[in-house]
Amino acid sequence: MLKKPRILFLAVLLVLAVSFGAHAQQAKTLTQTSTIDALMSGIYDGKMTLQELKLHGDIGLGTIQSLDGEMILLDGTVYQVKADGTVHVPGPAETTPFAAVTFFEPDMEKTLPGGIDMKRLTDEIDAVLPTTNVIYALRIEGRFKRVKARSVPRQNKPYRPLEEVVKTQSIFDFENVEGVIVGLRCPPFMKGINVPGYHLHFLTKDRKAGGHVLGLTVDKAVAKIDRINSFYVALPESQDFYRLNTDTDRTGAVSAVETRN
Ligand code: ZN
Repeated sequence: MLKKPRILFLAVLLVLAVSFGAHAQQAKTLTQTSTIDALMSGIYDGKMTLQELKLHGDIGLGTIQSLDGEMILLDGTVYQVKADGTVHVPGPAETTPFAAVTFFEPDMEKTLPGGIDMKRLTDEIDAVLPTTNVIYALRIEGRFKRVKARSVPRQNKPYRPLEEVVKTQSIFDFENVEGVIVGLRCPPFMKGINVPGYHLHFLTKDRKAGGHVLGLTVDKAVAKIDRINSFYVALPESQDFYRLNTDTDRTGAVSAVETRN
């Protein structure tokens, strides 16, 4: 008589253990293809398809093959904000030369005060983080008084370094706009691999505009924060990457490219 419930109990435990294990592993890993220094140096050919990328996450950011715009992965859909301001959903066979994604499962939430700028926004989020020595994925949703965003034009070979390309970037100014910002906050020790500090990409609520965030003013928004304690990076296997001098410190150039107005 007692046997049946015990078997059922064990089965439930097993299912819980399996689903918890799989879930925890997926939720707390940032998966990335290539490195920021490779992208900085003009390595704009990607091997990882968007289909493969999405096996590793449902939220994230990066760019598309040949540096064709700013990329935002949101709720499992890849959006491409082109330099002409239009937003496309590229097909699964399209590739990316640089992207970082995770399965979003927020641990923290912070209601942001109205009127704050980008610096204050990052200070407000920093204030609730237990440490800045791990990675965080962010989803900031709401209304913004202003968002200044940019995108970069598709490149042809021979590729120019990103520092040169951003001189031809397109800038988009949004006022009183609803939307979502997908972001990453990486520790300083990730320099060379990803962008240290905050890196934010914006998409309007109707998913018809957006870009890499250069500045903003919050109206009414909530930040959801996912703490990530594991990092996986797929390195390029191209000759361009094999020959790249990775000893060069590109910290200043990365910062210039990320914040260029
Ligand atoms: Zn960006």
